[in-house]
Amino acid sequence: QAKEEGKNTYRIYDETLNADLQQKMYIKNSLRRALDHQEFEVFYQPQIELATGRITGLEALLRWTHPKIGPISPEVFIPIAEESGLMIPIGEWVLRTACAQSKAWQDAGLPPITIAVNLSARQFAPRYDLAAQVKAILAETGLDPACLELEITENMAMHDNNAAVLQELRSDNVRVSIDDFGTHYSSLSYLKRLPVDKIKIDRSFVIGIGKEPKDEAIILAMLLLAKHMELTIIAEGVETSEQLAFLQTGECHEIQGYFYYPPKSAETAQQILRSHAEGLTII
Ligand code: C2E
Ligand code: MG
Ligand code: MG
Ligand code: MG
Repeated sequence: QAKEEGKNTYRIYDETLNADLQQKMYIKNSLRRALDHQEFEVFYQPQIELATGRITGLEALLRWTHPKIGPISPEVFIPIAEESGLMIPIGEWVLRTACAQSKAWQDAGLPPITIAVNLSARQFAPRYDLAAQVKAILAETGLDPACLELEITENMAMHDNNAAVLQELRSDNVRVSIDDFGTHYSSLSYLKRLPVDKIKIDRSFVIGIGKEPKDEAIILAMLLLAKHMELTIIAEGVETSEQLAFLQTGECHEIQGYFYYPPKSAETAQQILRSHAEGLTII
């Protein structure tokens, strides 16, 4: 079509578009066999309670190592997986892996630990029946539902159908957190209807601490909101002691970020949990 309109004018545009499309197609095709070929791994990032220095939970983060390209960021491949209908089986695999891991750590003598799993909007498709799937995975792995936290974004929280699914899981003691809080197009009214346990301050606000008074103001407002709504609040992407000090002063409950730990393999996460449990690591 572009050819008809004039080769020369559209050539550069055509080539970049083709390269992008080709790369996407290639990733899409690779994704189809990534599960079967065991190319995925779940990493775990500790969440630290500021008042005690304890690890209160771990966020499960998906990692994909492509056999030819190497590691590919979830920011790149998750949207492609969502588009091509692969996010349901992949998301289910993450849920099962993370729940099994938390249970395995408990069986190995570590204190029960909450595992936070990110959900994609696709997993709320009615024909999939997320509530039933989550319950089946909890039963299969033997994990206490109170040890599972589901991370959703504001746009997912806004849907009435999704709210019903989350209500059902919440009545089984599964917890719900709002990821990337304050970054989506949404009103706060879902906080009245949805049984939310925790809000996660997005990294884009944390970055502004000490630099951008508007970011600081938004964070302070979020801390106040959490306090009055009796929600747990955690800050994501904390990298510096200055950010930490600001959040500590504002009585933010928990911190997740490179300042303490980046996401770790299951093996390394277990060592960290062990040293915390034995009181060897004091934060
Ligand atoms: P998210 O859920 O907001 O996860 C936090 C992201 O911030 C992670 O990126 C984490 O590695 C990164 N991070 C944590 N601390 C720091 C820090 O101090 N500095 C910086 N610069 N980054 C930090 P990651 O693992 O690349 O994941 C990106 C996004 O991909 C996630 O954002 C989430 O939306 C999505 N994602 C990851 N795993 C899954 C999954 O299993 N299912 C779904 N649906 N989405 C996932
Ligand atoms: Mg998350
Ligand atoms: Mg986030
Ligand atoms: Mg994010």
